[in-house]
Amino acid sequence: MKYMDTENPEQVPGQIDNDDTFSFHCHAEISCFNLCCRNLNLFLYPYDVIRLKQRLGITSDQFIEQYVDIVLRPSNFFPEVLLRMAENEQKTCPFLTDQGCSVYPDRPDACRTFPVEHGAFYDAETRTTDIIHFFRPPDFCMGQHENRTWTVQTYAQDQDAVTYNKMTARWAKLKRLFHADPWGKEGPDGPRAKMAFMAAYNTDRFQAFILESSFLKRYKVKSAILRKIREDEAELLKFGFEWIKFYLWGVKTKYLRPR
Ligand code: SF4
Ligand code: SF4
Repeated sequence: MKYMDTENPEQVPGQIDNDDTFSFHCHAEISCFNLCCRNLNLFLYPYDVIRLKQRLGITSDQFIEQYVDIVLRPSNFFPEVLLRMAENEQKTCPFLTDQGCSVYPDRPDACRTFPVEHGAFYDAETRTTDIIHFFRPPDFCMGQHENRTWTVQTYAQDQDAVTYNKMTARWAKLKRLFHADPWGKEGPDGPRAKMAFMAAYNTDRFQAFILESSFLKRYKVKSAILRKIREDEAELLKFGFEWIKFYLWGVKTKYLRPR
């Protein structure tokens, strides 16, 4: 259930093209119902966190404190954010109930896209990142033997995953930049790393940083963009992604410019 980041998709089994079809149907009467919602490495992407914290009616700080583990892998220079499983024998998802998923309308991208996975494929020749797809249900998932047929696109529409997929793809392309070390001597725990993490995963604090610090004295942000940032956390997140690229790598953006 991971958004794979690969330079060689042929090494990953199950790749499907946009026109390929697959069979799948998950429903409450199926024998494996809820089996997949336990003992997971469930990666949360920035848009997932916004939707879940809104669903739960809590702040970004509270969500991060209560629900996530933050893991920095040696091969990457930006931490992964994983949903912390419950401390019970089966390590169930904290949102799992006997009736199913208690946050279903706002379940994370990986859950609504499952058993399809997406990948960010970086083409070194063209220096572009493409999004590719894989159909990889685990053996215990009986949904793959049901008789409903989808393409990646029709399944995403059915699962209300289109916005999620777009936001995650946007994040995956940015995250790929962290394959090279942007931190230098200050390291991945330094002040710039904390700022970048805040812009991606703590939208409450990032919004306060933009609107309540000296940020707007230092940067010019168009009033239409500012209005969106105040009203819509998805827009705030898009702004955050652009700001990270500008702040760490000096990538110019239409979202802001220095005064
Ligand atoms: S294992 Fe597959 S079919 Fe079973 S509940 Fe999970 S997603 Fe649905
Ligand atoms: S968020 Fe919902 S769908 Fe995803 S693992 Fe947890 S209970 Fe299952």
